[in-house]
Amino acid sequence: MGSFEICTLASGSKGNCTYISSGDTSLIVDEGLSVRELKLRAEKRGIDLSSVSAVLVTHEHYDHVKGLEQFSCESGARVYMPLTCYETMRARGERLTRYEHVDGFETGFDVGDIRVEPFRLPHDARYTVGYRLSDGKNDIAIATDLGYVSDNTLSRLSGCKAVIIESNHDKLMLEKGRYPFPLKMRIAGKTGHLSNDDSAAIAAQLVAGGTERILLAHLSEDNNTPELAFETTKEQLERHGIREGDDVVLDVAYQYRPSEIIRL
Ligand SMILES: [Zn+2]
Ligand SMILES: [Zn+2]
Repeated sequence: MGSFEICTLASGSKGNCTYISSGDTSLIVDEGLSVRELKLRAEKRGIDLSSVSAVLVTHEHYDHVKGLEQFSCESGARVYMPLTCYETMRARGERLTRYEHVDGFETGFDVGDIRVEPFRLPHDARYTVGYRLSDGKNDIAIATDLGYVSDNTLSRLSGCKAVIIESNHDKLMLEKGRYPFPLKMRIAGKTGHLSNDDSAAIAAQLVAGGTERILLAHLSEDNNTPELAFETTKEQLERHGIREGDDVVLDVAYQYRPSEIIRL
């Protein structure tokens, strides 16, 4: 039985891609980088992309699918996504010959040795999902691009050893920033993006449920800083008597460089 290895190759509104492997199975979640850039970053971390057999897509926004068509074509990796997401991409003229239709997508399917369970997220795409993955030893989950944490989302994240969760913006920076008002409303709304306070608020509950690694992701370049995101969650954890570094390891995912490889 394998153990999970996780590396966020890019995270944010200019492109998202996370590499996950366990034993002989490797996959990526989203391919929002040019394939050239993806290869460069994977190489930097010693990741062998030729072993990637699947791309799990969260939704059809370009920062999650920019390099998808080319990557799936070149690599032969199968593409999994909600049917409505596939239809939207086809209507945009994108050809996804390696799309794998899964009946009852949301109830789950297997990719090699990894069990995949998608769950719906509140976001302003046609259909957005997060993923909970299990290798039989541990569970991990990824949830970026969501407007709020519903009870269902929280239950899907609970009990996971590692959680990648959005920490998009600092509420005050967004409010005072240069974005036009409608865009501010969109980001802060129920189908927009999670604030630092939102992700901080659930961090303690995740740790209580057994989470040992939290990776804050999809940070805004304009309305956040890595330090602010990190400190907001760290302080909230401390209020619950949880020490970062001892009880849980907290990290931030970056837009322009890959994270360290997290090994469970
Ligand atoms: Zn996004
Ligand atoms: Zn999105």
